[in-house]
Amino acid sequence: MAVREIVQVGDPVLRQHARALTREELATGEIQQLIADMKETMRAAPGVGLAAPQIGESLQLVVIEDPAEYQKGFTPEQLAARDRTPVEFHVLVNPKLTVLGEDTVQQFEGCLSFATFNMVVTRARKVRVDALDEHGAPVSRVGTGWYARILQHEVDHLKGIVCVDRCDPRTLSTPANYTKFYGGKTVAEAKAIIGKPAR
Ligand code: ZN
Repeated sequence: MAVREIVQVGDPVLRQHARALTREELATGEIQQLIADMKETMRAAPGVGLAAPQIGESLQLVVIEDPAEYQKGFTPEQLAARDRTPVEFHVLVNPKLTVLGEDTVQQFEGCLSFATFNMVVTRARKVRVDALDEHGAPVSRVGTGWYARILQHEVDHLKGIVCVDRCDPRTLSTPANYTKFYGGKTVAEAKAIIGKPAR
């Protein structure tokens, strides 16, 4: 396995519509190696999701993992606000996303292809993803809260959509400034600090 370089914004691969994989391709050593590399790259970053275009491969392939240890730095209130619970490692191939219900949630999120800049993005609270797993078996996953956010973020990557396309641009923050000014705050508190633009 190998940790691969994560492509940064500006690289056109992040704007391409990734192509679907056949079951035959999925079974090849090449694609299984790619999945192993994506897992290692996501863990090394560290991140909670990685899409193949982020390592320069325009394929409909995503890995996700949100282990409990990543959630230790948050208070119970913060975890509750994010509706964030641990998610085991899994692979999604050719995912199709369906929004369930009409509830939306605003939260700060980041992206490994944006040097982990943070920004407030409005996402659906609940979604379903129908996909294949790494063995080519059909899988259907329903996610709410933070996991639904990860699913939407990663499936967007396969369509050439990145989080800044959907964000409130006034909330864009470097990682250091996010921690300094907004880290312990709710989105409403952060937006109150940022204020409205002068007319
Ligand atoms: Zn991303």
